[in-house]
Amino acid sequence: MADYSQQPTPLAFTQVPHPAPMPGAAREQAIADPRFGTVFTDYMVVVEYDEAKGGWHTASVQPRGPIALDPAASVLHYAQEIFEGMKAYRHPDGSLALFRPEENARRFNDSARRMAMPELPEELFLESLRQLLSVDREWVPGGDGASLYLRPFMFASEAFLGVRPARQYKFIVIASPAGAYFKSGHAAVKIWVSRDYTRAAPGGTGAAKTGGNYAASLVPQAEGIARGCDQVVFLDASERRWIEELGGMNLFFVFDDGSVLTPPLGTILPGITRDSLITLLRDEGLSVREEPYSIDQWRADAQSGRLVETLACGTAAVVTPVGTVLDDQSEFTIGGGGMGQIAGRMRDRLTGIQTGRLPDPHGWVVTV
Ligand SMILES: *Cc1c(COP(=O)(O)O)cnc(C)c1O
Repeated sequence: MADYSQQPTPLAFTQVPHPAPMPGAAREQAIADPRFGTVFTDYMVVVEYDEAKGGWHTASVQPRGPIALDPAASVLHYAQEIFEGMKAYRHPDGSLALFRPEENARRFNDSARRMAMPELPEELFLESLRQLLSVDREWVPGGDGASLYLRPFMFASEAFLGVRPARQYKFIVIASPAGAYFKSGHAAVKIWVSRDYTRAAPGGTGAAKTGGNYAASLVPQAEGIARGCDQVVFLDASERRWIEELGGMNLFFVFDDGSVLTPPLGTILPGITRDSLITLLRDEGLSVREEPYSIDQWRADAQSGRLVETLACGTAAVVTPVGTVLDDQSEFTIGGGGMGQIAGRMRDRLTGIQTGRLPDPHGWVVTV
């Protein structure tokens, strides 16, 4: 991990005991087969920011519950909000592990700067995760594909209707046990090409993990669902030609000569899974290029057989093959339309490193 010795000592956390944590049997049942994001742990972390009090000032780990918010809180009006998504894994020896958490801490601050929000010291971000995991330890499931999904987020809580960066914020971490992200599990997904809507424009907020990007993706997502698709792929806003990413996952294209292509950073979200996959693919001797790839080329390459796999990746769904692509003019299938060799191998390697089943040659795993 990086050296945080230059940063100020993190705040001391107040620990508020839970009056009635979920009993063990009920918890075991709740985490046995959770649907994504529906079951939550007993606790949450809350850290307060106030410019007038010198910045981040009060930190606690407390029973999870509703938070009081003034109706004029600026997040409700102007959407100053950012978040992260990461997972805690139970290793075979019973220890808990995070995957590259310092990358999430860094990206959180990249998002904060874009949204004119205060940065959170990386060590405070990491300490918040440790605090939550220490009280919610029993909530981390073991076993293949299972983990505790962690959701750190920050929003403007100041009661003020003028348009300017707020002066008060809350940073909160909640957690939710997770199984497989898509209902279809390991099966390939069907993707809808959004022609009418874009996700991000040059100069916009596409590279920030901010709620508004997701709000804007819901209409095209609904369009896709109505056509029997699982996810939406967005094209660039200028030419409506270059493939960007899915609503919450980055894309890789695998060719029959063993080369791999992924869209370049800029308007897309810089995924930590994307970055890890680039490394793992290169470990295997594959050449990975970060280059624009057009929707027309995608179709032509799938039809000619030059393109053998397309994979979508992100923390929630790890690595998921894209089987079929649909737009208002055409439909095409990639490879055999199911799980490809590279997708299967990458999913296995990544989850193996994350869950402690395989060695961690790049030092990505951090035990908590
Ligand atoms: C979070 C996210 C991803 C994936 O990022 P990971 O760090 O790999 O989880 C990709 N695209 C968007 C739009 C995202 O919000």
